[in-house]
Amino acid sequence: MLSADTATLRTALLAAVTTVRPQPGLIAGDRSFADLGLDSLDRLVLVHTVEQATGVTVPDHVLAGARHVDDLLSYLDTVGPAADEDPAGPGAAETQLGVVDDGAVVGAGSRLWHQAQVAAGARIGADCTLGKGAYVGAGSQLGDRVKLGNYACVFGATIADDAMISPHAALLEDPAPRATTPDGRRKEHTDFDQCPVTVGRRATIGAGAMIAPGVTVGHDALVAIGAVVVRDVLPYALVAGNPARQCGWVCTCGRTLADTLRCPRCSRGYIRHGDELHLLGDPADACDG
Ligand SMILES: [Zn+2]
Repeated sequence: MLSADTATLRTALLAAVTTVRPQPGLIAGDRSFADLGLDSLDRLVLVHTVEQATGVTVPDHVLAGARHVDDLLSYLDTVGPAADEDPAGPGAAETQLGVVDDGAVVGAGSRLWHQAQVAAGARIGADCTLGKGAYVGAGSQLGDRVKLGNYACVFGATIADDAMISPHAALLEDPAPRATTPDGRRKEHTDFDQCPVTVGRRATIGAGAMIAPGVTVGHDALVAIGAVVVRDVLPYALVAGNPARQCGWVCTCGRTLADTLRCPRCSRGYIRHGDELHLLGDPADACDG
């Protein structure tokens, strides 16, 4: 291995550390990740950054066993710069530490953290993020840049681009849930009623919220923490409680709108048409998502 290549890898790694967690001074290889304030997710970002800069992939077991920057440097020293060609092929998903079942489709650039799972028959788009333990069940369709928080559960739902399902939220599918059939037979997948949830573009489902089967959450809507949603949610609506009721409107940036229907943060303005809200000056708004 050429020393110049090793030096390049070392430089790339140390630069990546400061990218993930900006440091006031120079980073030495003997600094522990804990001292640098890098948690496990930061470390995943770190090795991804190194991978982009050098083409070297750090295996999961190496990352899991690394405690110091030097541990990764030692590994990089042993492998050297990678060949230009990605063995997984162009556009392959970075599944990282999650599980993609046979028959599932995961778009390019999407990431699965520890124990996240995409079940057979599910499809997720590009650049999605699935947090630790997140689950996407059969029949689910996720657009691009969708974010699922830790332990979010999606059963068969259709989720548009840029939507966010916060930690521990669940999108339910079966309106008549029973473990067995009336004659006592264990239900198989085909025995369940499928009445999935639909989530519009840029909508956010708050942490721990439960969305009942068949509900449609409109684009840019915001479901509050712990809400139990049993009815459809209008675009831009803010809903909270059990059962969830509308208690306001939210801007596309996520901030609650003032009574004037103008956002106090980004100054976007809105107008009411009957029960619906529309963004002023955006002709694409009314039919978006
Ligand atoms: Zn705003």
